[in-house]
Amino acid sequence: MGEGIEYVNERLNPDPDGLGRCEYEFQMGEMRGKRCGLAKDVEQPGARCFWHGGKREFGPARDKREGLKKDLQGLLVQNAYLEGASLDFMDLSGASLQSAKLPGADLYGTDLRGVRGGYAKFGEANLRSSDLRGSDLQGADLRGIRLAGAKFSSATNLDDVVWSRGSQLRDEDDVEKCGEEFMWREEAVTYVHVAGTYLALKNNRLDSGDYERAAEFRYREMECRRKGAKWFSVERFWLGVYKWLCGGYGEKPVWILGLVAGTIVVWALLFALVVGIREEHTTCRGLAALGKGLYLSVVSFTTLGMGDLRAVGWVGQALVGAEALTGAFLMALFVVCFARKAIRG
Ligand SMILES: [Zn+2]
Repeated sequence: MGEGIEYVNERLNPDPDGLGRCEYEFQMGEMRGKRCGLAKDVEQPGARCFWHGGKREFGPARDKREGLKKDLQGLLVQNAYLEGASLDFMDLSGASLQSAKLPGADLYGTDLRGVRGGYAKFGEANLRSSDLRGSDLQGADLRGIRLAGAKFSSATNLDDVVWSRGSQLRDEDDVEKCGEEFMWREEAVTYVHVAGTYLALKNNRLDSGDYERAAEFRYREMECRRKGAKWFSVERFWLGVYKWLCGGYGEKPVWILGLVAGTIVVWALLFALVVGIREEHTTCRGLAALGKGLYLSVVSFTTLGMGDLRAVGWVGQALVGAEALTGAFLMALFVVCFARKAIRG
């Protein structure tokens, strides 16, 4: 045993047979630089435990793991430090993973049905194509997680889960980096694919009454649909219009207030600097008329039309008309989006 090496799992799994300890070195989080330290598997060559079986290095070990598939049902590994563990394609249904640390773990295609994984740390883990139906992940850390193609049910508990900023999945970054489509273990991952995962997550959150998170997943779903549509296609154009004019696909009504403010300011500038403003018998134009421009802009936007100030000429009249139409449209849009969110939430 090397001097000065700190093993994390020493107490969890003592080494009664004296076969030595797993030398896997943690790369993430508070355990960075420390070694795994679980007892090694007897028949396995190399210096890794079962969990860090390094299938790339050890072909035979992989075959052995496949053979063990059924044996991992109902596994109990609460609080264990299993960073980077290779659990792909395994049957972990009904396992207890509460508060387990599994950052960077490979759980691709893993059967996780009915898993109790409350407050487990899955940061940067790969859970693509895994089966999470009926599992309990309350309070789990899923930041930077890959989740495309994973199966959910309304019984999957995702309350209080820690997601990446904006509830974005790492899969979306992957598609972005690798082009519109890339292969992951013989499986194509596309924006459409990721959108489907967001849709499943949204439905799960709706069933649990978590409308705020559901709205974030819907926004991401629509973003994937937009980014997945071909450039210069009609679909992409309309999804762009839906995003930018309808307050983030209707999920972010506050964006519409930004459009309202922008419209009022732009029209105020047009009135004051371009066409000029007429008040009784005098016409003013330029920066000095900016205050009057703002007033005229607000009065036009809200379709009040007081008549004390007027935009000069037919161009001015056309501008007033256009702003009144824009104003009526944006205000109706804001009310619809806001009411839709308010009723749902
Ligand atoms: Zn290990």
